[in-house]
Amino acid sequence: MLKKLFVLSLILVLGFSFSSKEKSKIQSENIIVLVIDGPRYTETWGDSTHAHIPNMYSQLLPQGVLYQDFRNTGFTITNGGHTAICTGVDQNIDNTGKEIPQFPSVFQYYIKEKKVDSTKAWVITSKDKLEILANCKDSLWHNKYRPAANCGLSGNPSTYRKDKVTMNHVYEVMKKHQPNLMIINLKEPDFSGHTANWKGYLKGIEAGDKYALELWNTIQNDAHYKGKTTLFITSDHGRHLDGVKNGYINHGCDCEGCRHINLLALGPDFKQNKIFTHQRNQKDIASTIAYMLSFQMATSKGEVMMEMFK
Ligand SMILES: [Zn+2]
Ligand SMILES: [Zn+2]
Repeated sequence: MLKKLFVLSLILVLGFSFSSKEKSKIQSENIIVLVIDGPRYTETWGDSTHAHIPNMYSQLLPQGVLYQDFRNTGFTITNGGHTAICTGVDQNIDNTGKEIPQFPSVFQYYIKEKKVDSTKAWVITSKDKLEILANCKDSLWHNKYRPAANCGLSGNPSTYRKDKVTMNHVYEVMKKHQPNLMIINLKEPDFSGHTANWKGYLKGIEAGDKYALELWNTIQNDAHYKGKTTLFITSDHGRHLDGVKNGYINHGCDCEGCRHINLLALGPDFKQNKIFTHQRNQKDIASTIAYMLSFQMATSKGEVMMEMFK
């Protein structure tokens, strides 16, 4: 009996010290989520030639992990996808910028928990309507712990702006405020897709691929960010498969093209050159951010993607 008790307490002690040790091993102090708006899997990682994402394929994948079966499990529209990533909840949200998320985001949790000011978490987006990500309806959180935002031409509502302008703001903010948490939205390739411009749509994917590499290299060349920054590269939704409604021109339904997106993640805490084939979804990004930056996120419905850690 005594021996049994001893073994049991030994297991408990070892278990606790193991889990706290594991947690303290997280090196990332900063997390950036880059959302490339609306590419289909068939033109990105599902294309075996990787013709439109040469940089992510040859330069970034060797340094990170890829989820081949990453999903939007909720509403395959821009504001729905971004809301799932930031709040960990699939919400049937208005897509025009007139409705804010129901639940608090990783930004609000982070600012509250760490007692930092709004410039330590940023929402920087080419689409003006995504300023909705900087607030929520929950009465305990509404208008509180809000991240800084820089969205569209001049906030919500105004109009979209060029992705190049958005990336310039990102680099300025990184220099000036050194935020710990940031989401970036690039309006392409979604914008060209909606104008039925196939060439522009492909160019938009290629531009996102270049911005992803440029951002990662900027992180590696910045003394403040180097070695302690995680980058998630993902999308808000895909687009209809060919043969579903008007194909690549639109999105918003339940088809495989709209649901199937991807996630590439890089940082000091993740495995490298690793491809996962099991399913994960956008909500898991919110929970994984909370885990890595050590705060509780009671309202997220996601799971921590433990398998990606070294
Ligand atoms: Zn979108
Ligand atoms: Zn569809």
